[in-house]
Amino acid sequence: MTDAKKFLDIIAAVAKKITAEKDFLTELDNEIGDGDHGINLARGFNAVEEILPTLADKDIGAILKAVGMKLVSTVGGASGPLYGTAFMKAGNVAKGKFSVTDAEFVEMFAAAVDGIKMRGKSTEGEKTMLDALCPALTAIKNSLDSGKNLSAALADGVDAAANGVEFTKTIVATKGRASYLKERSLGHQDPGATSSLFMLQTTAEILRGLQQ
Ligand code: ADP
Ligand code: MG
Repeated sequence: MTDAKKFLDIIAAVAKKITAEKDFLTELDNEIGDGDHGINLARGFNAVEEILPTLADKDIGAILKAVGMKLVSTVGGASGPLYGTAFMKAGNVAKGKFSVTDAEFVEMFAAAVDGIKMRGKSTEGEKTMLDALCPALTAIKNSLDSGKNLSAALADGVDAAANGVEFTKTIVATKGRASYLKERSLGHQDPGATSSLFMLQTTAEILRGLQQ
């Protein structure tokens, strides 16, 4: 079971993490993009931090919808609409709910990933955030099915996402700005996959605190 307060904790922690990693993410985007991924995301999550107090008594669906809308309107670039859609789609699944079961949590994550695929017209293997998120989703589902709790499953998801980030170094980008570089995108890790890994890591850390 994960309650609305825990989602607010996760979002606040993600905002801190993204701010802390802003320069690193921007450096990665400098190599294969236009050097704004960290700046874009930090701007968006700072704006999200500002509205968090207004979300204190809201249900999980309303919280995630507000976060997603804020990201869409403030992040810019390709990643703004993609992450914004992800949060809004996850929110749809939790509409009116003040707590979600582990199965619902995974359903929300799956809806977020589907939202990114739809919005980005993209799929796994194109050197994007999906190369962290898709393997993470599969790992989380498998771990829950095998009887692990959500916190342990999330830890497995983080490992899978980290492998996914490594994998992005070995493939050519076919979506987003990095695709303009063709073979020259090889050897570089994808900034969006990296920011997705950071979000998952932070989520796992907060959930671990809950389930000790
Ligand atoms: P921009 O490329 O417009 O400058 P950002 O730098 O903020 O936007 O984000 C770049 C990241 O967005 C990439 O590293 C990649 O992970 C992700 N991305 C770009 N296009 C797509 C897409 N069509 N589907 C999924 N992710 C994408
Ligand atoms: Mg960029």
